[in-house]
Amino acid sequence: MTANITPNSWKDALHDRTELDIDMSDVQVAFEPWIIIHYMSARENLRDNPLAFAAKTHKLMKQVKFATGYHWNNRNVHMRWNSHLLHMGIYVSEKSINVSFNTSFGSELIAQAFCTHAESSTDEWKAKVDEMFRRVEQYTKGIYHCSDCDAEMTEIAGRYFAGIYCEKCWAQKWKAIEAKETYN
Ligand SMILES: [Zn+2]
Repeated sequence: MTANITPNSWKDALHDRTELDIDMSDVQVAFEPWIIIHYMSARENLRDNPLAFAAKTHKLMKQVKFATGYHWNNRNVHMRWNSHLLHMGIYVSEKSINVSFNTSFGSELIAQAFCTHAESSTDEWKAKVDEMFRRVEQYTKGIYHCSDCDAEMTEIAGRYFAGIYCEKCWAQKWKAIEAKETYN
């Protein structure tokens, strides 16, 4: 298809799409939209009503699928923290809610929290959310937590799936587990 547009004003020139007429038949391409939620809004919604927030977010994933022609329910939900983007997982089962923040591409687990539906309106849950966001802030400053012993670390000794481990836990346990993994 060739668009035949002759710009006759600066406005037409702005919207001139003739140079966007690219033949993509030899390139396999997909568009993967990201849903990006500001961290203050994510924090507020998670503290106040994680169930409602999860329901909205899951609807949004579906809507983005239809709006963009992306094939799958959109899992690319991210939270923006200044210049950082973290992947946000928010899973609801019949009885519980599980929230996690991971790095976008490395998929390292930065923080997670879990509660039952009944617990989701308590102060304990709000404290868990605050702790998650404390860890996210630490991560933006280069401080991680070991997925095993929870120790703070600035160097990641080893990785196993989304787990990140300190030198001690890696040497004593996870290095051997990772070595046995065939990643099939
Ligand atoms: Zn450790």
